[in-house]
Amino acid sequence: LSIRRQRQMCIRDRHMSGYHFLFVPGPSNVPAAVQQAIHCPMEDHRNPTIPDLIQPITQDLKKILRTETGKVVFFPSSGTGCWEAALQSTLNVGDKVLGASFGQFSYLWLDMCKRLKFEPITMEEEWGTGANPESYHKHLSEDKNHEIKCVLVCQNETATGVRSDVEAIRKVLDDLNHPALLFVDGVSSVASYEFEMDKWGVDAIVSGSQKGFMLPAGLGILGMSQKAIDAMKNSTYPTCYFDVADMIEKLDGGYLPYTPPVNLLRGFRVAIDMIFEEGLENIWKRHYRLAEGTRRAITEGWGLNLCAKEEKWYSDTVSAIVVPEGFDASKVISTAFNKYNLALGAGLSKVAGKVFRIGHLGDLNECMLFGAISGAEMAMLDNGIKVEPGSGAAAASKYWSQNVSGELKSKSVAK
Ligand code: PLP
Repeated sequence: LSIRRQRQMCIRDRHMSGYHFLFVPGPSNVPAAVQQAIHCPMEDHRNPTIPDLIQPITQDLKKILRTETGKVVFFPSSGTGCWEAALQSTLNVGDKVLGASFGQFSYLWLDMCKRLKFEPITMEEEWGTGANPESYHKHLSEDKNHEIKCVLVCQNETATGVRSDVEAIRKVLDDLNHPALLFVDGVSSVASYEFEMDKWGVDAIVSGSQKGFMLPAGLGILGMSQKAIDAMKNSTYPTCYFDVADMIEKLDGGYLPYTPPVNLLRGFRVAIDMIFEEGLENIWKRHYRLAEGTRRAITEGWGLNLCAKEEKWYSDTVSAIVVPEGFDASKVISTAFNKYNLALGAGLSKVAGKVFRIGHLGDLNECMLFGAISGAEMAMLDNGIKVEPGSGAAAASKYWSQNVSGELKSKSVAK
């Protein structure tokens, strides 16, 4: 093939028969109905019907983020844009921001704080664990003058497959009567597993379209509490593209301050309808069930370890699998891609070559996951990793056939 033709090729054109199995932890699979909705003619983004599309989406997003009192906006960006929007709109240069770093994404958010001239206080935690409420307590209790203006928590660390307990961090703030804003990264958890903006007192929640929302990348989603909106009035940080106040004002009128990706929004409408049709809590339970079957395949079937060190850290959207000493996880990933048409998630930064990841989020069912489990298993065998052929699928099958409905992991949500 000419280089030019190769560059034009999309994954569908790789001359491999059958489906491409997309099992990275985002982008996730886009349902056919959503793809069809996106595939519509271009239209004037200022036409008079646009508010009928946009206003209900912003209202419906409040239900998904579980807020009645907050505001939800979206930007034509990825999730990273909303990290930036939340920080820049509410804080001032030099403000102290406290956050735990235990994986690539929790690290990057704090790194952004440094680059944007805030003053991050980074609590290093072991990769494979999550946000430690005791570390937050230590720093916040020593902060008698309330210099820490904002606390960051990555609810789902996608690099290691770790979930953090956001509610526990809220409790630390409440117990200390500390007024810092609580910002949560929910890029790979929102619309997949439990998240409660109002109940957990979250001031900013950041997400993106390409994971639980089952859309292509291209929309950053941001929920802001009234407290965060009030903080915007005291921020002198210069903002332009990511100005949340501008966005709130324009979205209230049914438009955006600039050209929106209307096609994506047409898809968003259908994706949100699908979420409501299944029911948010049923989606949370489905994600637990699918994740648990995958975990059984990894630990009981293959006898391998998850990167997440303990059950309390297990993520319901992504599992990071540690390959045995002496093996290279990146070879498993390339075999899976080239031989089995299966995309697995790579190990990032500190865990590069040590783990591969199976994303189990979005529009997904058991049989699809069997493809990922069996494909990963074959790719491991091809690379000399001694797992028992068929053992992953057998362990998952046993779990899925014996456990009909999923569970909710967060106790306060389950109540
Ligand atoms: N935070 C988490 C937890 C993520 O998983 C990702 C991306 O995978 C990001 C932030 C960055 O989001 P985006 O790639 O949409 O900018």
